[in-house]
Amino acid sequence: MRNSPHGPRRISLMNLTVFRRFLRAWYRRRRRSLPWRENPDPYRIWISEVMLQQTTVSAVVPYFERFLAAFPTLHDLAAADEEAVLRCWEGLGYYRRARHLRQAAQQVVRDWGGQIPKNPAELQSLPGVGRYTAGAIASIAFDERAPILEANTQRLHCRLTGLDDPRSAAAQRSLWSFAEALLPDRGRGAGEINQALMELGSQVCRPEAPHCGVCPVSQFCEAFRTGRQEEIPRTAARPKVTEWVEAAVALFRTAPHRRPLGERQVDAGREWLLFRRLESERWPGLWDFPRFAIADGGGLAPTPQQIAARLLEAFGLRARGLEPAASIRHSVTRYRFLLHGWRGEWAGGRSTTARETRWVGTSELSQTPMPAPGRRIAAQLLFDSKSARG
Ligand code: SF4
Repeated sequence: MRNSPHGPRRISLMNLTVFRRFLRAWYRRRRRSLPWRENPDPYRIWISEVMLQQTTVSAVVPYFERFLAAFPTLHDLAAADEEAVLRCWEGLGYYRRARHLRQAAQQVVRDWGGQIPKNPAELQSLPGVGRYTAGAIASIAFDERAPILEANTQRLHCRLTGLDDPRSAAAQRSLWSFAEALLPDRGRGAGEINQALMELGSQVCRPEAPHCGVCPVSQFCEAFRTGRQEEIPRTAARPKVTEWVEAAVALFRTAPHRRPLGERQVDAGREWLLFRRLESERWPGLWDFPRFAIADGGGLAPTPQQIAARLLEAFGLRARGLEPAASIRHSVTRYRFLLHGWRGEWAGGRSTTARETRWVGTSELSQTPMPAPGRRIAAQLLFDSKSARG
């Protein structure tokens, strides 16, 4: 397949005024009601656009509302503790986004007196703000003539222009130029056009079986004209899934200042050892139980002796009374993990890793930002603790 030479020529000749009119009319009728669209101030737009990176709208909505309740203004976010921000983000994934948001809020307070800049180039100087996010904030919040290109609009523009493969640098330049060409002048509704394009890409020009019969701009579409809408854009082969087996050990000690309240309330006096995940690891900045890779037992659970040996080898820690706590399956990008959760009493040893460590009481686990598998183990510990109290 070739990249169609007709796409850009057709677009340069097409009637942009009519294209925008059809698109706007469709968007005003069909747009979904979303919380960040109701009160589109720059801070809310910014939070929503960062949350929407790599994440679906339905997953984002509850997080957006919770985040705005916790940090209603940019100043609140700038002044917030990083752990509070991460805890609020917990479960949404790609945690660097949350840390960058807080750092960027601090930069806006420090360098721009708390006013989010309008200019896409200035926006891109903020941590975590790339060309797409800058274009979205500048156009939607300030009606600047700033183009956007994300997964939905990239697919849409490939089909509109008949571009088979968007992956080369030249193709990307062409798509960004096209995205810009579609926009009206500054102050004339560029933000609405950008939102309409994203909505059209997500709701109508879907990856498979696009709804061309109800598409408001089908008359301008090169893929539709040539019947190639199912073939464009060409997609890369899915990366091979890698299976991975890990163990995490919830190590406890009886805290000197947390006197056990009785035999059936034993967890009330326990503290659990957590490690802060490194920048180079998955879930950077979050707290987790000691976790390490173990050999795939072919469906057989590891023995306490194997877990103890790996805990000593990977973390320099000894444990006694090891017992299984929970087995969890989870996926991260192309990795499928089987995590064996264990619980045991710390029996000495000091951490030999570069990670920051912390002992946390059972009830404090719920305040501590953790990755999803660690949270499930913590939930099991809390459940056991409550069950023990009867
Ligand atoms: Fe997408 Fe079909 Fe509309 Fe073309 S006509 S933009 S392929 S939905």
